[in-house]
Amino acid sequence: MLDRIAAVAREAGRSPEDVTLVAVSKQQPDDRIDAMLAAGQRVFGENRVQEAAGRWSDRRQGVELRLIGPLQTNKVREALALFDVIETLDREKLARAVATEIVRSGRSPRLYVQVNTGEEPQKAGVAPGAADAFIAFCRSLGLRLEGLMCIPPDAEDPRPHFRLLADIAARNGLTGLSMGMSADYEAAVASGATSVRVGSALFGGRLPRQG
Ligand SMILES: *Cc1c(COP(=O)(O)O)cnc(C)c1O
Repeated sequence: MLDRIAAVAREAGRSPEDVTLVAVSKQQPDDRIDAMLAAGQRVFGENRVQEAAGRWSDRRQGVELRLIGPLQTNKVREALALFDVIETLDREKLARAVATEIVRSGRSPRLYVQVNTGEEPQKAGVAPGAADAFIAFCRSLGLRLEGLMCIPPDAEDPRPHFRLLADIAARNGLTGLSMGMSADYEAAVASGATSVRVGSALFGGRLPRQG
């Protein structure tokens, strides 16, 4: 996987070090996660606060954890205590709660705004047309943003979505682009992704959720 990412990056005239592989460990059995840690992988993504807390409490040392799933305001405190990066800021109430918790806790997670590039009703994220204003709102709260994240629609060519995300980031002076999953990480790297979030292609199929 890292070889493939590096090769695609080089083909696109990019440096392989500019792309971080985020191993998405949600719903994966412990032995696979321990094998990934033993292989040297240090950056992991989780989409649920509670599930991540259970999995990572004993494995947290030396690991960078990223929240890539929706965050409820009543979980903000727990999320900031656990995660180094939060990729799913997408509404004013949440941005306010995160800003408040940063001041209260003294923690400073790296932050991404999620953009719903396909404007799909079932997906989280700000609409592309509302992104500039939301980014400005976050900054007005004193939040320092690192970049943008998106999950393109399943059945579409992801590249226009990746380009749209890159355009919004560039015009807002943001350098981080979290885009690309198992099915489309190569296209994402070619389109400028600075991190790809890969689960099943790395670990194998996920276990069903409990509860
Ligand atoms: C589950 C998940 C992934 C990884 O999905 P795969 O297709 O298994 O690579 C990436 N990003 C987000 C936001 C996810 O929830």
